[in-house]
Amino acid sequence: MQSMDNNTLTQRDLRVLWHPCTQMHDHETLPLVPIRRGEGVWLEDFNGKRYLDAISSWWVNLFGHANPRINAAIADQLQNLEHVILAGFTHEPVVRLSEQLVQLAPKGLSRCFYADSGSAAVEIALKMSFHYWQNRGEKKRTRFINLTSSYHGETLGALSMGDVSLYKETYQPLLLKPITVKSPDCYYREAGESWADYSTRAFAEMETALARYADEVCAVIVEPLVQCAGGMRMYDPVYLKLLRQACDKYRVHLIADEIAVGFGRTGTMFACEQAAIAPDFLCLGKGLTGGYLPLSVCLTTDEVYQTFYAEYATRKAFLHSHSYTGNPLACSAALATLEIFRDDDVINRNQVLAAHIAHATASLADHPHIAEVRQTGMILAIEMVKDKKTHESFPWQERRGLSVYRYALEHGALLRPLGDVIYFMPPYVIKPEEINLLAKVAGEGINIATTK
Ligand code: PMP
Repeated sequence: MQSMDNNTLTQRDLRVLWHPCTQMHDHETLPLVPIRRGEGVWLEDFNGKRYLDAISSWWVNLFGHANPRINAAIADQLQNLEHVILAGFTHEPVVRLSEQLVQLAPKGLSRCFYADSGSAAVEIALKMSFHYWQNRGEKKRTRFINLTSSYHGETLGALSMGDVSLYKETYQPLLLKPITVKSPDCYYREAGESWADYSTRAFAEMETALARYADEVCAVIVEPLVQCAGGMRMYDPVYLKLLRQACDKYRVHLIADEIAVGFGRTGTMFACEQAAIAPDFLCLGKGLTGGYLPLSVCLTTDEVYQTFYAEYATRKAFLHSHSYTGNPLACSAALATLEIFRDDDVINRNQVLAAHIAHATASLADHPHIAEVRQTGMILAIEMVKDKKTHESFPWQERRGLSVYRYALEHGALLRPLGDVIYFMPPYVIKPEEINLLAKVAGEGINIATTK
C-alpha cells in the first residue's frame, strides 16, 4: 500500500469528494483534517498530531474510538454473517438487540423497525403514524406538529419537521408543511424564571395548537429535553409530561426523536425517562452502535403494530424498507454497546463526569460575551453573544464559532460549534483532565473569537 501523509490525502480528497454540511469553498483556506487512526477520545493525523473528539464525531461515539470490546464483537460477527435481507429472513443479533431495546425503552414500546440513519428512522415514524390513521379510517389526518428550533434530519420528510432555516429554507417548495409551535427552549426564559416555569408557560401554545388542529394531525414530533442541532437548546421535563397528557387527550401520536439524546446523553438512558413518559414512537440512531456503524430504529407500541396486522388483501401492511435494515454487523456493535452500559454502570458513572464538566466550565458564565452556559447530563453548551445583557447575537457573517473551531484544532481539540454555540458532547470514556483541557481550549478560543 502507498504510504500516506496529511497533504497528499487532503489534496486527493479535495479532487474527488464533496463533504457533508460543508461549503467546499471554505477549504481553500480552512484545512481539511486527515485522520489516520483513533483511540479512545483521541483522533490522530498522519504526523501524530492528536485531536480530542469533544463532539463524539457528530454525537455518535459513546465509548471511544477503536473500543476493544466493540471491535471484538464486530470481528466475531464478521466470521459468521455480514448481512442478510431482513424481509422474510432473520438472524440472532437483530433478535437479541430487539429484545434488549424493548426491555430498556420506556414501557409499552414493544416493536422495533430498523433503518440505517436517523433521518430514515424519522421518516418511518412519520409514515407509520400517518398510515396508522389511514388504516383506522381517519383519513383527514395528514399533518404534523413540530417545535421551533427543532431538527430531525435531512431527508425531505425529516427536513420538513425541522425548523433550522439554514438547512431548510432552500428546499421549502419541496417540503411538507408542519404546524410549528413555539419551543419550550429555556434560553428565552425571563430573568429569575425557572426552567420548569418557563417550559410550562411555553406549553400553552402547544395546547392551543392541539385543540385547534387535533382532527387533522397525525403526531407531534419533538427532541426530548435538548434540541441539539438547533443550538443545544434545553428545556424542562415537565413539558414532555404535559405533552404526553395532551396527546392522549386530543388523540394524537407523540414521536420522541432521541436520535441525538438517547443512550445516556441527557443523564438517563433515554431523555423521556426524566418525564416518566412513553412516546408512541421512539426514534434511535447515532449512539445505538456506539458510533461504529449506521443503524437506527423506530420503536412503537403493540397498538400501532396491531393496526397494520391483517390479511394481506386488506392492504394495511407497512411496506417500507431499506437495503441494510437490521444489518448484523451493526446489530452486533449495538449489542456490545448495550453490554458496556450494563457492565460498566455507565449511567451512574456519567453523573461524576457531568459534575466535572459543570465544574470545569463554571467560570465561563462570567465571560462578557457568554450569555449562558447550560447543561443537561453529558451535553454542555456555551452561548456566545455580542451583548451579554440583551442576548444580541453577533452577525452570522462574522462566523465567530468558526474561529473557535480553528483555534481548538490548532490546540488539539475537535469542537464544532453550531453557529456561535460551542458545546461538548464527548464520549463517556473522557477523563477529568481531558475535560479540563477542553474547557481551557474552549475558553481561550472564545476569548480570541470575541475580541477580534
Ligand atoms: N434527529 C436528530 C435529533 C438528530 O440530531 C439527527 C442528526 N444530527 C437526526 C435526526 C438525523 O440523523 P442522521 O444524520 O443519522 O440521518
